[in-house]
Amino acid sequence: MSIPEQEPKSTFPCNACQAGVMRLQLLTYFTWLDDEMVMVPNFPAWVCDVCGKREYDERAVNWLTTLLSPNAGKTTLNQKTPRRVQAARRGHSRPPSTE
Ligand SMILES: [Zn+2]
Repeated sequence: MSIPEQEPKSTFPCNACQAGVMRLQLLTYFTWLDDEMVMVPNFPAWVCDVCGKREYDERAVNWLTTLLSPNAGKTTLNQKTPRRVQAARRGHSRPPSTE
């Protein structure tokens, strides 16, 4: 791993429309924490000046996630295991043996 340049990138090409340029802006970030809506003002986000695509800064999102979940080791995930219900199949009736 090597950092080629320490040049701070303030813009980069949009990967959605490939014509615009993503610029760093400070927006208000909304997220849900259980049943509560959390609002974070001045949240860094990249906004395309052509198509308007928004991409929140990954580091900032990670920071916020860590901030909002102090019990990081505690995950309450709804375990959704797909269950296969095997339909009972008929048609296995053997023909009665004839003598
Ligand atoms: Zn765009």
